[in-house]
Amino acid sequence: MALPTELLYRYHKELNQPFADSRELLVRALDLMAGQLKLDQVCFFDWTPEESLLSQRLVWRAGAAMDMEEDIAVAVGSPLRAVLEHGGVYVSQNLNYPALYIPVQWKGGGRRLAGRPETGDEPRLGALRMERLKKSWAFSSREKELARGLADELAHNLSHAELDQFNREQLNRAHALNELTGVFASSMRVEDGMRLILQGIQRYFGFDRVRLYLVSHAERKLKGELSADARGQVRSLAHEQIPLQPGVHRFADIVLGNSAGDAVTDNYRETVIYLPLTVQGKSVGLLIVDNLLSQQPILQEDMVSLSSFAGQIALAVDNAMLFEQVQELSQFDELTRLPLRRYFNERFQEEMYRAERFAQPMALIWLDIDFFKEVNDAYGHQIGDQVLFEAGRVILSNLRKIDFPCRYGGDEIIILLPQARADDARAIAARLAQEISEIRVPVPFAKAGEVRVSVSQGIATYPGDAASGEELLARADEALYWVKSHGRGGVALYSQVFAKKPSDPGLLPNPLPSKKDQPPKKQG
Ligand code: GH3
Ligand code: MG
Repeated sequence: MALPTELLYRYHKELNQPFADSRELLVRALDLMAGQLKLDQVCFFDWTPEESLLSQRLVWRAGAAMDMEEDIAVAVGSPLRAVLEHGGVYVSQNLNYPALYIPVQWKGGGRRLAGRPETGDEPRLGALRMERLKKSWAFSSREKELARGLADELAHNLSHAELDQFNREQLNRAHALNELTGVFASSMRVEDGMRLILQGIQRYFGFDRVRLYLVSHAERKLKGELSADARGQVRSLAHEQIPLQPGVHRFADIVLGNSAGDAVTDNYRETVIYLPLTVQGKSVGLLIVDNLLSQQPILQEDMVSLSSFAGQIALAVDNAMLFEQVQELSQFDELTRLPLRRYFNERFQEEMYRAERFAQPMALIWLDIDFFKEVNDAYGHQIGDQVLFEAGRVILSNLRKIDFPCRYGGDEIIILLPQARADDARAIAARLAQEISEIRVPVPFAKAGEVRVSVSQGIATYPGDAASGEELLARADEALYWVKSHGRGGVALYSQVFAKKPSDPGLLPNPLPSKKDQPPKKQG
């Protein structure tokens, strides 16, 4: 009798429909197979020839499928091994009931290890074991032929199912990455964006770790940014700073030698992928994903989909860095490098809130350069600019980390001193006055050959002098005005010059040149 084509056709039709994954297809296939061949049990194995190992994947028994994990070592040189290698069917002699082994070969659905060369359509290998639990029920040759036909049909459908599954997963990844890069691009703060994208990549691909380094061309460095691990924790890598010079560090070499942004793997290691981030040939960073902890090889498909989005990630990183730079520029004064008023106001509100909330003291110094207009008039704007620049440098180098100076406008500088009392502020003001008085800006064409300046400073404190931020500013301004109208060049505490004790002048000794040393009026 010829091959039962009608049965095979029905089998083909039943299997030729979309399944969620290859497991669902296998369950259906084994179920149909058992019905058509009157089987009590049928198992599906993966076959690894290098290890001569059959690994049980699925068992169908009495209408139900179960996932199984059981390995059978196949003896080298055994008839079973010969059938698995060369095809055909093998009837087991080991069991005391009929069991039929049939090899199954199908096309792998694109899955490949990262860094391994493309080998074309490397086949996936497996086997079926069909069992009848009654000893007398041997398989006829017609049944063997049908079994062989069903196995081929299954192989054909497995190829399709796995390819479908692979494509679906690729598409899902593409969507996920697209979404991620979108979220990233719309993040206002660079760090938030980086955090999101790193966590996203880690989660979607299930890597042990994802790390991001950014290129600083100005500093010629590769700077650690963030690292996300499998527990979803994100850590700063700011302590990692790698000189961007050849031969110093593998990361730097990868960035320097790869302006095309191609993914790189370590030789003989499929557990790390380096992804240089480039925008039009300019390196902006390095993304490193690894499975070093679990030693799970990274799949080629993951590398491909990550690579195809490296360009987008790079663009988003580049944009974000540019945005931060622009923001930074707009918050600091170009000349003195001090924060601008707008930035100060924000910070002032925060500090004021903190001081009120935690009942902490705060002081404010309002500093103004004396006769600055005359400096401009006598020596020109450029010299005036140099004076301002030097004053900014002195102020920045004399403050504590928590202090916050600001170029309030013209030659006026305000310094916020959180957690400082009147005495602390007075000490800082005295030091500033001293150091600013030591500034010498050379003026070759002037008689003195240089210009010096003095500053006047008014101090107010919270909560002693003021109950609010505005009041604090107003009191410091009043104290400054007092100094300006009492000879300049000194420091006044609001509480001392305007409160109870008229006997205390409040004005600190002037460490500076007096009026006669001030710049002369411009001649001619
Ligand atoms: P006082 O002792 O009363 O403070 O006298 P002053 O001459 O310093 O008076 P005032 O505060 O009115 O003058 C500030 C001058 O600072 C006016 C302005 O031309 C100048 N100025 C403001 N911004 C800049 C700047 O960026 N560069 C230079 N060179 N001058 C500036
Ligand atoms: Mg002035």
